[in-house]
Amino acid sequence: MLDRARYLLKKYYGYTGFRAGQEWIIENILEKRDVLAIMPTGSGKSICYQLPALIFPGISIVISPLISLMKDQVDILKENGIPATFLNSSLKATEAKRRLEKLERGEYKLLYIAPERLKTPGFNGIFGRLELSMITVDEAHCISEWGHDFRPAYLYIGDLVQKLEKRPVLTAFTATATPEVREDIIKQLKLQNPRIYLGGFDRRNLSFIVKRGLNKDRFLLDYLERQPGVSGIIYTATRQETDRVYRFLSARGYSVGRYHAGLSARERSFTQNAFLADTLKIIVATNAFGMGIDKPDVRYVIHYNMPGSIEAYYQEAGRAGRDGKEAECILLYSPEDRGIQEFLIEESSENIERKRQRLKQLKSMLDYCFTDKCLRAFILCYFGEESISPACGNCSNCFSTYELKDLTGSLRLFFSRISNPGKRR
Ligand code: ADP
Ligand code: ZN
Repeated sequence: MLDRARYLLKKYYGYTGFRAGQEWIIENILEKRDVLAIMPTGSGKSICYQLPALIFPGISIVISPLISLMKDQVDILKENGIPATFLNSSLKATEAKRRLEKLERGEYKLLYIAPERLKTPGFNGIFGRLELSMITVDEAHCISEWGHDFRPAYLYIGDLVQKLEKRPVLTAFTATATPEVREDIIKQLKLQNPRIYLGGFDRRNLSFIVKRGLNKDRFLLDYLERQPGVSGIIYTATRQETDRVYRFLSARGYSVGRYHAGLSARERSFTQNAFLADTLKIIVATNAFGMGIDKPDVRYVIHYNMPGSIEAYYQEAGRAGRDGKEAECILLYSPEDRGIQEFLIEESSENIERKRQRLKQLKSMLDYCFTDKCLRAFILCYFGEESISPACGNCSNCFSTYELKDLTGSLRLFFSRISNPGKRR
């Protein structure tokens, strides 16, 4: 069967070999075992479920949280000659109906849907009649309240599968899952003796840098001056801050775009396309930007503010250096950042338990900003990966002189005080 998978890999995707993990995962799925795979973004998760879907009889369903992501995936599949489609709220009723009919006639091998779709009457009506070989849950961390993108509709999947007369293979994929979230995925999806694949999280080409207490605007100007013509993303914690930094850089002649959920869909897609097409080099954005964006040559990701969790940070920072070449992930910390995150948690409508969890995640994020140990080792350990050597040589704590060299004596004294754990946090 693996021979067939290899043949199809060449035929449909034009690739001659599997990447680390892909072969093992595909083999297990083809033997009809449930699989939970945790692999970093860009490592090639899609092929792990698309190839088995091509080999299995009937159809496989992929549950995916994002409309834009679905369309991209299906476009690529169709380009490669694979009969695939998606159903989501972006479709007109007539088009959705047409697709449901084709679905019933067995004309697709892969169907992408959002989890909410499972509950709609139109879909529910035909669901039981499909020749369903596999359900794949993409971005599976969304099922966990302990994760960072909780989507309640994901909770429904486990029960639904239990109710099916013939249980399909259930597979789950995510790029970020702490040991706690992993357990939760298995429990909530009711995976049966799942094979677990834990891909290497380390991205050696990324340099991790934390800077505390500096003038952030000044830093940006200096930094951008030294990076002419390369692509980069600057993340801020709020829309207002995105707007402000955007205006600040525009006023200084930088060709910069902005992206946040408060802008019109038109402006957002214009900015995103310009960034992908390389006509726009710098994007200032909230965390609304980046999901599903696979731009290989992002050379830096600057967090102008500290994000709320290591999960969010690693996902956003990880958009740098997808091409495997050197890239920098810089986090600019100031004490207000902590206040902003605490405020966001306080103000959210989530329940107490969930808020407590988010405060715990925030605490880890703060620890990252203040640790004097290797930043890479810190992140890997957070994701439960037993680390590499204690010092990577490619983060601001490993190049021990990095921070000190651009600080004057008095500032250095100041920082050594605020970085003293327990005192100022
Ligand atoms: P992920 O979902 O893990 O972020 P993707 O599935 O989108 O990653 O894959 C990232 C890129 O790697 C895609 O361009 C994909 O075509 C490519 N890729 C995946 N598997 C292979 C392979 N075996 N050989 C070469 N390229 C691959
Ligand atoms: Zn290091």
